[in-house]
Amino acid sequence: MRLRNIRGARETIAASEFVIKQETEYKGRWNELFGNQNPIHIEIGMGKGKFLTTLAQQNPTINYIGIEKYSSVLIRAVAKQEELTLPNLLFIRMEAEYLADVFAHNEVARIYLNFSDPWPKDRHAKRRLTSKDFLDRYHQILLPEGEVIFKTDNRELFDYSMEQVPEAGWKLVNYTYDLHESEFVEGNVMTEYEEKFVAEGHPICRLTAVRDCPEKQNAE
Ligand code: SAH
Repeated sequence: MRLRNIRGARETIAASEFVIKQETEYKGRWNELFGNQNPIHIEIGMGKGKFLTTLAQQNPTINYIGIEKYSSVLIRAVAKQEELTLPNLLFIRMEAEYLADVFAHNEVARIYLNFSDPWPKDRHAKRRLTSKDFLDRYHQILLPEGEVIFKTDNRELFDYSMEQVPEAGWKLVNYTYDLHESEFVEGNVMTEYEEKFVAEGHPICRLTAVRDCPEKQNAE
């Protein structure tokens, strides 16, 4: 995502009640913050937040947490939420590497990854949000039946991700190389990047993955 130094972004984020600071203090207690026991779905690398804001409006009985490392893009989602004040939508400005410090075992029901940075160089492969290293981190916070849903226009990143899923001891539930021409398009909510790529005629790939044998793994 293009970075611009938006004046006051950090200050606005610091002042917003929808952006949770000292996020590690809420590990295992996110439901208390929402004031209900509804499932928690997170998006990692949410950018400007259209996807998650739309889902939060559509599904009031699901709690959504958007995670984004840059204030300059997060500010857009925060500004929108300051207008909407949806009770089921919060944000954290953080680097996803530290997810397991913020969420407890079994705390998250679903993880969305949309148009994640490709990190094309081999030596940066571990930074890809669908690498085995990241899937291992997701394993630490997801419910046994919890899923990861990943969309991208980047075929190389998608092929890599399809390999990482079994490598990490996960299994594919479904996948498509052309979401908008597939059965899975029904109910699909487009992200900012997706709108742009679809308008340019790029096919969008999508996969859903769960842990293989989650009961056994969760007994760790
Ligand atoms: N999901 C949005 C934005 C995609 S761009 C969309 O589909 O429109 C990828 C976003 O992920 C960027 O905003 C980037 O800052 C964020 N990001 C990438 N790696 C991250 C990480 N490790 N932790 C948190 N955010 C990350």
